[in-house]
Parts: sequence; C-alpha cells; structure tokens
Amino acid sequence: MAEQFDVIVIGGGPAGYHAAIRAAQLGLKTACVDAWTGADNKAALGGTCLNVGCIPSKALLDSSKQFHNLTHSFKDHGINAANPSIDVKTMVGRKDKIVKQFTGGVAMLFKGNKIASFLGKARLLKDRQVEITAPDGGKQTIAGTNVIIATGSAPIELPFARFDGKTIVDNAGALAFEAVPRRLGVIGAGVIGLELGSVWKRLGSDVTIIEALPDFLGTADAEVAKAALRELTKQGLKIELGAKLSKAEVKGNEVQLTYAGKDGEKQLVVDKLLVAVGRRAFTDGLLGDGTGVKLDERGRVVVDEHCWTGVDGVWAVGDCVRGPMLAHKGFEEGIAVAELIAGKAGHVDYDVIPWVIYTEPEIAWVGKTEQQCKAENIPYRTGSFPFAAIGRAVAMNEPAGFVKMIAHAQTDRILGVHLVGAEVSELVAECVVAMSFKGSSEDLARIIHAHPTLSEAVHEAAMSVDKRAIHKAN
Ligand code: NAD
Repeated sequence: MAEQFDVIVIGGGPAGYHAAIRAAQLGLKTACVDAWTGADNKAALGGTCLNVGCIPSKALLDSSKQFHNLTHSFKDHGINAANPSIDVKTMVGRKDKIVKQFTGGVAMLFKGNKIASFLGKARLLKDRQVEITAPDGGKQTIAGTNVIIATGSAPIELPFARFDGKTIVDNAGALAFEAVPRRLGVIGAGVIGLELGSVWKRLGSDVTIIEALPDFLGTADAEVAKAALRELTKQGLKIELGAKLSKAEVKGNEVQLTYAGKDGEKQLVVDKLLVAVGRRAFTDGLLGDGTGVKLDERGRVVVDEHCWTGVDGVWAVGDCVRGPMLAHKGFEEGIAVAELIAGKAGHVDYDVIPWVIYTEPEIAWVGKTEQQCKAENIPYRTGSFPFAAIGRAVAMNEPAGFVKMIAHAQTDRILGVHLVGAEVSELVAECVVAMSFKGSSEDLARIIHAHPTLSEAVHEAAMSVDKRAIHKAN
C-alpha cells in the first residue's frame, strides 16, 4: 500500500517549500516531491528562485554593480583604481556557491522539520495519490490526505527564437555566460530583461532591449516608469519600445534579428540573445485521469481565493496559479494553505504585495498606481519627494529617483507607494507595513524616521501629501 501522508507538496520551490515547512511545524506528516537537480545530479531544492532566479540574479547584480562603481563612480570619491578587470568565471562561480548554500539550506530545513523529501517528477492521480518518477525511471506512489500543487513556472519560448542554451537563452542561460557578450540582445523589457540586461551592460556589453509594448513598464506608476527609463537609458541600455521581433536567425556565433520598430523594419546582429517575454505556469504532465483539478486557458491550476482547487484536499499555490509570479506571493500562499489545512485562519492580503525590480536605481511599489486610481474614479492626493534632497542619498552618490505616495482624498488612507532610487527594495517594506495596518499618509508623516537615512524620503513624501514636506517647496 502507498505510504500515507497528511500533506504532500508537489514542487520544492518558494511556494512549495514554505508550505511544506509550515505544515510540518503544525505537526502534519509532510512529504515534498521535487525534480530539480544541480550540476552534481543531486536534488537542488528551492525551484527557480534559488536555482536560476531571485538569488543568483541578485548575486550577479551585486558583482556587476561593484564593477560598475569601480569603473564609473569611484573617481567621484577620489578613489583611483588602475586597470580594473573582470574574471567572469570567478563571478559566476561565486554565484553558483551562493546557490548551493541556499539549496542545501532548504534540504537541511526539510531534515530538521522531518519532511520526507522525494527526488523525481510527480503526477497527481485520482484520490490524492501521487506517482513519482525518479530520474532513473523508477516509479513509486504515495498518498496524501491533502496535496498542495506548487509546480511553478517556465520561460515562454518564442516559436521564431527557440532556446538553444548557448546563443539564444532564457534567464538560466543568461546567468551562466562564460564571458561578457560583446553585443547582447534582449527580447522583453520586463523584470528579467531589465535585471539581466543591466548585469551584462555594467560589465561592458552593448545591450539592446526590444519591447513589443509602446509603454515602458506599463504596470508601474507612469511617473516612476518615466524616471526609470531616463536613468536606464543614461546608463547606456538601448531600449526600443513598440518593437516587434519577427525573426532571430543563428548564424555561426551570432544571431541576426529582424524586428519592426517605430521607424520601420530594422536588423540587429548580436552575440547572445536573451528571450525574457514572460513565464507560463508549469503544469505539463501534472494531472492524471479523473483528478477533477481544472487548468485554465493559460495552463494555470484553477483555484479560489483560498488556493483551493474545488477538489477535496487538493490545493495549489505560487506561479502555477493566478496572480503575480513573485516568490514572496508564493511564500505567503504556501504558508496560508498549510495553516488552512491545520484548521487555522491562513490568509493572503493580495492588495499589498510589494513589487521590486533590482535595476540601478531600483524600482519598487505597493498598491495602486495613479493611473489605476484615475481609471477607478477614486479621489486621491499625491505627495512626492526626491532623493536629490536627501542628505544620505547624496552622500552615497545616489541622488536619482523619488518616492511618491498616493492617499485617499477623503480618508487619507494610503492607496499606493511608488519608489525609484537607491535601496528602495528595502524602503518599500515600511510602506507595505503601513498599508497592511490600513495606515494614512498622516500616520507615516507623524512617525519619527532616523536622520540621515534614505527612509526620510518616505517620511517627506508622506508629509508632502498634505503639502508640508520640510525640504522642498510644496
Ligand atoms: P515580464 O512579464 O516581467 O516581462 C515580459 C516583457 O516582454 C513584457 O514587457 C512584454 O510586453 C514583453 N514581450 C512579450 N512578448 C514580446 C515579444 N514577442 N517581443 C518583445 N517583447 C515582448 O516577464 P519576465 O521578465 O520574463 O519575468 C517573468 C516573471 O518572473 C514575471 O512574472 C516577473 O514578475 C517574475 N520575476 C520577478 C522578479 C522580481 O520580482 N524582481 C525577477 C525576475 C522575474
């Protein structure tokens, strides 16, 4: 008979491993099945986020930022560094070491929480039976009172620019180049395109980003998107908006691109092409016959607001369900479902999910944009404050950007905060807390912020909503 668990989690990425650990903490007998293996062919828990996403990209963003500062801004501090050079192998090796540390960390957490970890591809069968196919082809079946599907997402492939892992690559490929490509083409000015385009640009690559939509970062607040575009362009990233790729032909070591831009058809030759046009739910081969679990037209598992599939004991969380594909959204869904299974009040507040793009300057936001408030006829006031007037930002040589706060015109409740500037990935947390507590701009305006810190920009933006910012004309 199949071994029985209280909870079986399919997928050990951010959403899945959070679900598994929380379920185990709550005393449930838990198993997690994951197929990801590292270079050593051993299990590498943590999914896209730890293996080829959030963590490795941040490692390379940090390395490339250090190099960029060395070559561009150290001189402003009076520091001369003669003949700087990059050793890409060491840089990528450092990133790989960090990945190994964190994937190994999840394995240790599983052990510490007595979670049974299975290596292989899982298929959900009828009655919450889960068939596992190991890398050597061996099969076994386990059964769960509950099953949490957390199979994540995969890069979308363009039919006329297929990934070959060498010249035309996805995010994983662009994290493992062996040398700085002289010319890098990027399809898609989304989160991955901007972050990885920035990495290679800072290291000296000539980077052209081709984006189909006419507006830059359409989901961000328009003022933030405009400022970010200006700063990124200043750094030398060439961003072509409203440009539609029609052909990508690999010829030897190059890729020849044909695309229709604002000024008609154009050709571009690059050494590497990163295709980052979004991701799709990864549910291929997941469902056996008669499970009752439904997929939508985009292959996502259909769930209600509590991540329940409508089938007794079957749940789904993270990138494989509706909502933004963000690791932290998956974390919270995983925890909430484990708590619901244990009879607790698990809950995710989808209105206050922070977004961060780790470019330079960083971009972050939470809540509604000004264009959304307008479209929804919500009466609002805004306040903003530039980092150029923040002593700490100027002392750090990072004066670009601003914080913009949107508050309800009558109740003053904060509706959204939009940030572009140094370390706004950290500053947005305060705004998330304020919004989660249904705070007003006045609440933030009356809370003491340490001086001199970057957080003063949030404080001043809050005061600016009521036209009483101190360090600017209101
Ligand atoms: P994305 O949705 O952020 O951006 C894709 C971009 O490609 C869009 O701007 C889209 O208009 C454009 N595009 C689509 N088809 C195109 C075409 N044929 N030609 C030119 N442009 C085209 O997707 P992504 O950057 O691939 O990232 C995938 C997912 O991973 C996203 O959901 C993202 O939120 C997530 N992610 C998040 C982070 C972070 O939080 N910092 C980092 C990396 C990835």
